Amino acid sequence: MRDHDIRHFILGQWREGALGRTRPVLDPATGQGIGQVACAEKSDLDEAVAAAQIGFEHWRHMTPIARAGIMHRAAALLRERAEFISTLMTREQGKPLTEAKAETAAAADIIDWFADEGLRIYGRLVPSRHNLAIRQMVIKDPVGPVVAFTPWNFPINQVVRKVSAALAAGCSVLVKGPEETPASPAALIRAFADAGLPAGVLGLVYGDPAEISGYLIPHPVIRKITFTGSTAVGKHLAALAGQHMKRTTMELGGHAPVIVCDDADLDLAVRTSVQNKFRNAGQVCISPTRFLVHRRVVDDFAAEMARQASQLRVGAGMAPDTQMGPLANVRRQQAMAELTRDAVTRGARLLTGGDRLGEQGNFWLPTVLADVPGDARAFNEEPFGPLALIQSFDDLQDAITEANRLPYGLAGYAFTRSLRNADLLTRHVEVGMLWINMGAQASAEMPFGGIKESGYGTEGGPEAMDAYLNTRAVSILNA
Ligand code: NAD
Repeated sequence: MRDHDIRHFILGQWREGALGRTRPVLDPATGQGIGQVACAEKSDLDEAVAAAQIGFEHWRHMTPIARAGIMHRAAALLRERAEFISTLMTREQGKPLTEAKAETAAAADIIDWFADEGLRIYGRLVPSRHNLAIRQMVIKDPVGPVVAFTPWNFPINQVVRKVSAALAAGCSVLVKGPEETPASPAALIRAFADAGLPAGVLGLVYGDPAEISGYLIPHPVIRKITFTGSTAVGKHLAALAGQHMKRTTMELGGHAPVIVCDDADLDLAVRTSVQNKFRNAGQVCISPTRFLVHRRVVDDFAAEMARQASQLRVGAGMAPDTQMGPLANVRRQQAMAELTRDAVTRGARLLTGGDRLGEQGNFWLPTVLADVPGDARAFNEEPFGPLALIQSFDDLQDAITEANRLPYGLAGYAFTRSLRNADLLTRHVEVGMLWINMGAQASAEMPFGGIKESGYGTEGGPEAMDAYLNTRAVSILNA
C-alpha cells in the first residue's frame, strides 16, 4: 500500500468499500497518480451509520474528563506525527510544506482547546416563578450522531474543527472526507483512533459526494449535518436537511473585500495583502479578493502589489523555497483562465500573472488585475484561486456599499489609521469576520463563520459547541 491508498474507517477498522471501487488520487504538482481512495456503497454507509450509533451510545456516557483525556492524547499524537502528515498533505493538495505544517500544528491546538471546552458544558438551575418546591433545570445533551462533509482546500483543518467540537460535546461523527485529498484527513482520524477513541465514535468514508449526502442526510440515525464547501452545494444540502428537520452548520463561500483607505499604512496593506491573498494559492474561503482602494493611493498600491506578487516563488509544495504551490485540481486552473480572460475582455488591466506556469501540474501565476469593472465575472463569483482584483473608490461609503453588494458575508479586511473609519467599517461591513490592519488570524477560541449566503453557525469559540448540543428543560415538583 502507498501512503495515499486510503480506505474507509468504520467501527474501528480500515476497510475497502463493499465492491472494491476506488478513484485515483493525483499529485497536483505533476498530475501523476499517487494513490487510490475507496468509494463507499450504500451497504458501507449503512454499516458506518450503525457504527456511529454504537459509538454515540458509548461516548455520550463517558465523563467529560475521560473524553478530554483521549482528545488531548490525539492532539499529542498529531504533533508527534506532524512531519509525516504534512508531507502527505502537500503531496495530495499542493500547498507549500510550511503551510501544511502550520495547518497540522493548528489542528492539534484546536483539539486541545475543544477538549477543555467540553469540560465546561454546564446546565442551569432556574428558580420557579410559581413555587419554590419546583426545581427547574436546563440540561445540555449531545445532539447525536453527526455527519460532516469536508472539502479539499484545508484537508485537516476543515475536519478537525467539526470533529473536535462534536466530540467535546459528546457526539459521534461520521466524516465524508475530500476524495481529492484523502490521506491527510485519514491520518487525523488515525491519531484519534490510536489515542483510544472507542470504535464507532469517529468514522470516515469517501465516495460520490452527492450520493452519500443524499443517503446520509435523511437517515434517521443522523441528527446533525455540518458542511464546508460552495454556497450552491450548501443551499442544496441545507434544503435537504430542512425536509428532515435536521440541524445544520453551513460554512460556505466568500468573496472578501479589502478596503484600503487613503490614510492606511500602505506598506503594511500591500505586504499583508500579498501574504494573505496567495496563501494556499488563494483557495481559501476567507481569501481577500476584491481590493477596494482609495483613488489617491490606488496606483501605488496596485504597482507594489503586482511587484511583490510577481516575485513569489511558485513551485511544487515539497520544494523548500516554494512560496505558492499549484492549484489543487485542474478545475481551478481552468476557472482562473476563464475568469482572467473575462476580466481583461471587460477592460481590466493585467498587471502580473494571468497565465499558467509550465506544462506539467496545475500551476497558475499569482495574478493582479487593476481597474476591474464591477460586471467582471471574477468580481461577482468566488474566484477561489490566486486572483487579486483591484478597483478604486472615492468615498468610504461607496466602498462599504460595494463590499456589501454581493450575497456573500464571510470575511472582510480593511486598512486605515483612523479610529472613525475603523468604527464605521466595524458597524457597516456585513461579514462574519473582519480584520482591520492585519491579515486573517483564525484560532480555536474565536468564532469562525459567515453571514448572508456564506452560511450560518460558527466553527470556533464557545458558540461552536452549541451546534452539537440540545438544550432541554426539566422541572420537578418536590411533592
Ligand atoms: P464543488 O462545489 O463541486 O465542491 C465543493 C465541496 O463540496 C467538495 O468538497 C465536494 O466534495 C463537496 N460536494 C459537492 N457536491 C456535494 C454534494 N451533493 N453533497 C455533499 N458534498 C458535495 O466545487 P469544487 O470544484 O470542489 O470547489 C470549487 C468551489 O467550492 C469553490 O469555488 C468554492 O466556492 C467552494 N469551496 C469552498 C470551500 C470553503 O472552504 N468554504 C472549500 C472548498 C471549495
